[in-house]
Amino acid sequence: MGIKINSLLIHGGIDGDTATGAVNVPVYQTSTYKQDGLGQNRGWEYSRTGNPTRAAAEKLVADLERGTYGLAFASGLAAISTVLSLFKEGDKLVVSDNIYGGTFRILDNVFDHFGITYTIVDTSDPAKVEAAIDDDVKAVYVESPANPLLTVTDIREVADIAHRNGKILIVDNTFLTPYLQRPLTLGADIVIHSGTKYLGGHSDVISGFVVLNDKELSERLYYLQNAIGGVLAPWDSYLVIRGIKTLGVRMDRHVENAGRIAEWLVQSGYVDRVYYPGLTSDPGYEVQKKQADGAGAMISFVLKKAYDHRKFFERLKIITLAESLGGVESLVCHPASMTHAAIPAEVRKKVGIVDELIRLSVGIEDVEDLIDDLKQAIESSAKEE
Ligand SMILES: *Cc1c(COP(=O)(O)O)cnc(C)c1O
Repeated sequence: MGIKINSLLIHGGIDGDTATGAVNVPVYQTSTYKQDGLGQNRGWEYSRTGNPTRAAAEKLVADLERGTYGLAFASGLAAISTVLSLFKEGDKLVVSDNIYGGTFRILDNVFDHFGITYTIVDTSDPAKVEAAIDDDVKAVYVESPANPLLTVTDIREVADIAHRNGKILIVDNTFLTPYLQRPLTLGADIVIHSGTKYLGGHSDVISGFVVLNDKELSERLYYLQNAIGGVLAPWDSYLVIRGIKTLGVRMDRHVENAGRIAEWLVQSGYVDRVYYPGLTSDPGYEVQKKQADGAGAMISFVLKKAYDHRKFFERLKIITLAESLGGVESLVCHPASMTHAAIPAEVRKKVGIVDELIRLSVGIEDVEDLIDDLKQAIESSAKEE
């Protein structure tokens, strides 16, 4: 469809229900479908293989990513594990050095058992990606901005490097959503989402998506989706569709609030370091500006030694200490012990995920209230001399 993004959020995919005229796609809460005769069905056979509500969510996310084929999964990790199942013994991946902890966990402790290995690279430096590619490498896997240090990778440049060497590029676009960044249009081959985050947007559903353009690869992924079976349930598909309708208005507020908070943190005198690619001082600023329509709403920072980061978490009143991100409410987490605990301590330290690092998912509350909350929590966590 040739319409703009905010219209696409509401009318993309399968808009409404042709059978009844219902404005919303109904929740087809069914596991199976009546067959009219042997080998005669109406396009639906069994809900692991296909379900109309899930199909609507899949088509919607595909449209938003400007892709052809979409697949919905029971979680982001179900999406990731299905994509990783494309590879076989002896295959190797080149992976960004700071990505979602669960992705490292599944590589280290699950796909490792099948002889699939990986090397960690700072993908913000394309030369390092090029240097890491050898015959065994089959794909480059990046997040941009990456979790939790918001490192920005030049997607177009890394896609070119991958393609020149006959490899594919996989991008986890969870942090920005297609509202802000569309990796397929920058040359990526496969886009992955945890729909649990901004797409759902209300911290009430776990989901995952994969979008791509290549027909052959999509047929293999559909096969794997059905064979492995980690599909998104009808009700959860509906919740994600419902969340996506307001993605644009939510993201605008998320990004505006995050920009205000990042600037406040920098000049506050409370922090040693702020990671946010929307700051002109951030090393990823130029690339971020070139390839995305905004810097997102994830900020990481390191408090000055004068403050006790453990106490800080307890003193917050509005901002909630919790895993996850991308919901309307602001959440804060401690990557070293929470989201990235699965990464060995020495690797964490090497890539900069220090013990004092704090990750903030900026919600859509009034930004003054969020800044007041941060201020009182930091001040009341000052270490006693
Ligand atoms: C949360 C997250 C995942 C995993 O998704 P789940 O829905 O929790 O399984 C993958 N990638 C990123 C960037 C995430 O934030």
